[in-house]
Amino acid sequence: MKLIVCKFGGSSLADGNNILRVEKILRADPARRFAVVSAPGKRFSADVKVTDLLYGCFRAAQETGDCSAAFADVRKRFISIVSELGMESFDIQSILDETEREIDLQKSADFTASRGEYLNARIIAAKLGWQFIDAKDIIFFDENGLFDEAKSYPLIEAKLRECGNAVIPGFYGTDANGKIRTFSRGGSDISGSIIARGVNAGLYENWTDVSGFLACDPRLVECPEKIEVISFKELRELSYMGANVLHADSIFPVRRGDIPIKIKNTFQPEDAGTLILPSKKYKKHGNIVTGIAGKKDFTVIFLEKSMMNSEIGFARKVLSVLEQNAVSFEHMPSGIDTLSLVIESKNLSDGMLDRLIEQIRDAVHPDYVRVLDQIALVATVGHGMTASVGTSARLFRALSDAGINIRMIDQGSSEINIIVGIDNADYERCLRAIYYEFFKKKKAS
Ligand code: ASP
Repeated sequence: MKLIVCKFGGSSLADGNNILRVEKILRADPARRFAVVSAPGKRFSADVKVTDLLYGCFRAAQETGDCSAAFADVRKRFISIVSELGMESFDIQSILDETEREIDLQKSADFTASRGEYLNARIIAAKLGWQFIDAKDIIFFDENGLFDEAKSYPLIEAKLRECGNAVIPGFYGTDANGKIRTFSRGGSDISGSIIARGVNAGLYENWTDVSGFLACDPRLVECPEKIEVISFKELRELSYMGANVLHADSIFPVRRGDIPIKIKNTFQPEDAGTLILPSKKYKKHGNIVTGIAGKKDFTVIFLEKSMMNSEIGFARKVLSVLEQNAVSFEHMPSGIDTLSLVIESKNLSDGMLDRLIEQIRDAVHPDYVRVLDQIALVATVGHGMTASVGTSARLFRALSDAGINIRMIDQGSSEINIIVGIDNADYERCLRAIYYEFFKKKKAS
């Protein structure tokens, strides 16, 4: 039996009732041997996540050396979880007292923030009667603050092989100096992926509060289709454009271990969810397009120079200007005599745009420079597009029928992605037109 590593997010563990749902899910399949847990999240929309309460405790400890007032809210959350779970004999008070003392003593933001996951994992392990394995003993960072694979994987393997079932707190590990260090926000997804790779799981189940990925933003089209299967590559393209269910960095550990991820909904466990597969295991399905996503607020710097194609070093000189100014670009479509740089507008404030243009003019003497701002990018993604003739024709016709002016086209070299640049004002209509063309018409025909 191939084992499953399950990660449960903050909303799945926000209170005792939700933890009882999680218990049911874990007990329903004996292959679910390891649970990686987040801190309790929001119980209702105006609620505060425990992690955010803890950052408040850190500030209090740093400023006054006493976090007790701020920690009172954290106490309340965990005491009510323990009572909702009917765990009268579990001594949460002493664990909370000890935690409060350590927060005051350590005055570390990462240590303090990590306590939400730590405390939740201690409670859940006790409730399930599973072993608690502290992430600090199995997940390590190197001196550059990067995840230390060489050190962590053998320890994960060795520690977890010994135990039948375990609960592991997400979000943190130990740095090169032996101190607690957290991943970036939402990082329990990364911890889950690392544990799945470390124990060579057959599946990494990521349990959240939605039933997987949708083919388009539900705020823009009514009841978009669910994506049942998606490849890691497609997911990367869509997540970059803002289709966020998983932390972007969480893909890499499992992807390298060829381990599929399944996104599941704790509140609707019977829903199929979305299966994310390595390319090797991915088989094309009926849809030409898997999903559509986009982002607003880009600027395009368009350069034209006759015979640019034969001018050696043109692109390098342009890109050096970006490098010297520490500005990253997102796309760089080019033609024989043209080259465009697509940059997020927020990176060009405070005179940066004018500086770049001046330096580019000095470096490569273009015949013509034009700037388009307030541009939105929309990515249409799918492995099915590579094999079907006429996909781009359909896409461009749909946009022309909707009266949308395309300002830029970039078919990424990955071939599974066509990106169009349009005016911000056309963004919503553009997504709808593409969705309708590839999803609704398919049904009608
Ligand atoms: N609790 C952390 C956060 O709120 C980590 C996580 O939930 O993944 O970002």
